[in-house]
Amino acid sequence: MTKQGAIITIDGPSGSGKSTISKRLAAKLGYTFLDTGAMYRAVGLKVERLGIDLADTETLGRMLDNTELRLVPGTDEHVRVYLDNEEVTLAIRTAAMGLVASKVSAHPAVRTKLTHLQREMGRKGRVVAEGRDTGTVVFPEADCKFFLDASPDERARRRCAQLLEKGQTADYEEILAQIKKRDHADSTRTHAPLKPAADAVIIDSSTMSIDEVVAYMLERVGDP
Ligand code: C5P
Repeated sequence: MTKQGAIITIDGPSGSGKSTISKRLAAKLGYTFLDTGAMYRAVGLKVERLGIDLADTETLGRMLDNTELRLVPGTDEHVRVYLDNEEVTLAIRTAAMGLVASKVSAHPAVRTKLTHLQREMGRKGRVVAEGRDTGTVVFPEADCKFFLDASPDERARRRCAQLLEKGQTADYEEILAQIKKRDHADSTRTHAPLKPAADAVIIDSSTMSIDEVVAYMLERVGDP
């Protein structure tokens, strides 16, 4: 594979601060933020809406062939997500959709399609790609790889705080259980499991602020 120019990958479990940190890093560098999780969530939404049985690989394959996904960077930090030309930016952001995404993402046909799309999106470089397998599978030749982790308790605490801030209710124990369930599913699956690339810089953000992590990353990235 030829050198891909400036591609930075940030992988890690949900709640590790990946999204916020990836967006900030991309903004600081003037790079495009590639939210791969949003793509799995959008496919999950379509599977759910159409009531597709995931064991029915033929129907799943046909659905994937007829699916158009677009990520459009917004004026703010948000990326707008379009599924077959319908904006689903908010619809995919529920906890339930995170679990559906986790289920569909274990299917090789889904991974093949989305990995292909992600490579297309990263072709020109100057990208901060965020997900579970961006450093191991999607962009193995990336210039700089990070794996961001935090303890499950800390991640559950952060998620609760986020929900309360939005005026929603939050059940710590339930959130912690969900986090553990998703971690287990993501890291034990056969295809592209969640794990750090051999050459990734591992950062435990449990006791670091977002600003501290971003500053550390910028230092490591240097001048890509
Ligand atoms: O990061 P986010 O929570 O939006 O991802 C939703 C789900 O999509 C994850 O739990 C994971 O199962 C799946 N995913 C994946 N590979 C990626 C990104 C996300 O399998 N690169």
